Amino acid sequence: MTRQAVMEASAPSDSQLRKTLHAMNLRGTKARVVILRAVFRRGSPVSQAEIASALGEFWVDLSTICRALNDMINVGLLRRVEVGDLVWRYELATDRRTISEHPHFYCHECGRVTCLFDFEETLLALRDELVNVGTVHSLVLRGICDECGRS
Ligand SMILES: [Zn+2]
Ligand SMILES: [Zn+2]
Repeated sequence: MTRQAVMEASAPSDSQLRKTLHAMNLRGTKARVVILRAVFRRGSPVSQAEIASALGEFWVDLSTICRALNDMINVGLLRRVEVGDLVWRYELATDRRTISEHPHFYCHECGRVTCLFDFEETLLALRDELVNVGTVHSLVLRGICDECGRS
């Protein structure tokens, strides 16, 4: 099973998502729940447009999505990921695996961003190496993902 399939299989129920929101002192509105579910399902950083198209029958306008995302960022539930293509993407900031900073892989064909959880050490090592150059905030590797490479 791929990591993506594992994440989808373990997507929490709506009541679990509401509990997660309550734990962060946010009301469990329907919009927040469905947006949070879309972020969980993806298991990698997801853009506002991708969230909007993943909502299915529960339609939420972009300004509501934007507000809900900001609310969840402000309480530390989500984190913004920037890979240099001027698109904000969002990932969980509380997941055991995403709690620390990690590098990301950006496919310049399809725009998909993948978390590189196994390369946290690489980021930390680079940070130490570059201490006399500057402060490293993020590490983004660019290339073509397997899916785009095959087609
Ligand atoms: Zn791709
Ligand atoms: Zn990530």
